[in-house]
Amino acid sequence: MIEDLLKHYNEPTIATVCSHSSLQIFDGARKEGFKTLGIALKKPPKFYDAFPLAKPDEFMVVERYSEIADRRNELIRQDAIVIPHGSFVEYMGAERFRELEVPTFGNRKVLEWESDRKKERQWLEGAGITMPAQYSLDEVDRPVIVKYHGAKGGSSFFIANNREEIEKRVDTTQEFTIQEFVPGTRYYIHYFYSPISEDGYRLSKGTLEVLGIDRRVESNIDEIYRLGSINELAKLGINPSFVVTGNLPLVLRESLLPKVFEMGEKVVEESLKLFGGVIGPFCLETICTEDLEFKVFEISARIVAGTNLFISGSPYADLIEKGLSTGKRIAKEIRKAMDEGRLDEVVT
Ligand code: AMP
Repeated sequence: MIEDLLKHYNEPTIATVCSHSSLQIFDGARKEGFKTLGIALKKPPKFYDAFPLAKPDEFMVVERYSEIADRRNELIRQDAIVIPHGSFVEYMGAERFRELEVPTFGNRKVLEWESDRKKERQWLEGAGITMPAQYSLDEVDRPVIVKYHGAKGGSSFFIANNREEIEKRVDTTQEFTIQEFVPGTRYYIHYFYSPISEDGYRLSKGTLEVLGIDRRVESNIDEIYRLGSINELAKLGINPSFVVTGNLPLVLRESLLPKVFEMGEKVVEESLKLFGGVIGPFCLETICTEDLEFKVFEISARIVAGTNLFISGSPYADLIEKGLSTGKRIAKEIRKAMDEGRLDEVVT
């Protein structure tokens, strides 16, 4: 179906929802000579006027995100290729997004593996990646983080030291997992997998790049220490929360880069076996322990907002091409696939 549509595409328009990493996506698309379309809720966001280089050529205004599916003909008429980002998938709903009959960059089969915590673990552990240990309530013998299914971070996660603390706080009406709280430093590594490229860090098929690394800034956990120790604050009813408010740039010790590439490689190779590959940008959310071992607590299988730091390149992306952002890298992949008649290998 999508393959048939692609056969009639001449000059794609890059479309995405006006949120998350859209400024970067539009900027990158324009740099590669594509037309751009911003999908806006109710009306175009005014703040886009402040950033002329990243403002899309046109807007498509919708009353609710579910309307995007109903307006597929309008999108297809413009040869639209939709770029998914975290907010796009969340606003539309993973199920609706998967069924959207508009060409979409990347492999939408990944959603099934990423949005279910059990399948995510099956994918990553199957790849040989170390993840934080998971416990049942009886097994808890160290600090843990309790995560509700479906919730992405946010204020609802909590840290506990033992079974009693969990029982006191947990909302049993929701599904949750209990995970080892890994002490260490967090690195969110931005990878890009191209199944159609041959130059660079080669995999069994295609190549793997690292375009940047960030760390999420989370309120209030990141600065709670300013008020006192977590245990003392808990007695006052003040608990850590994990609401993402921004991102900081990071680089890793150069000696850790081989491990970073090995992790990315394993994740891609396993994804090729399981569902045809995690195509385009993805991010491993890791904690590096004092033994210099990485534990991966989550994967995001699309552009992450931390890449917004690197709209003009990064210490890694600049060694591939000066000023390369993830948004531009996506546009370059689409351009190359178009030129080689291989659009159906990166767009599904
Ligand atoms: P997540 O929604 O899984 O990305 O988790 C939200 C935040 O909780 C992360 O950005 C980390 O700050 C923290 N976190 C998640 N899992 C762990 C873990 N196993 N150990 C320590 N911190 C974690």
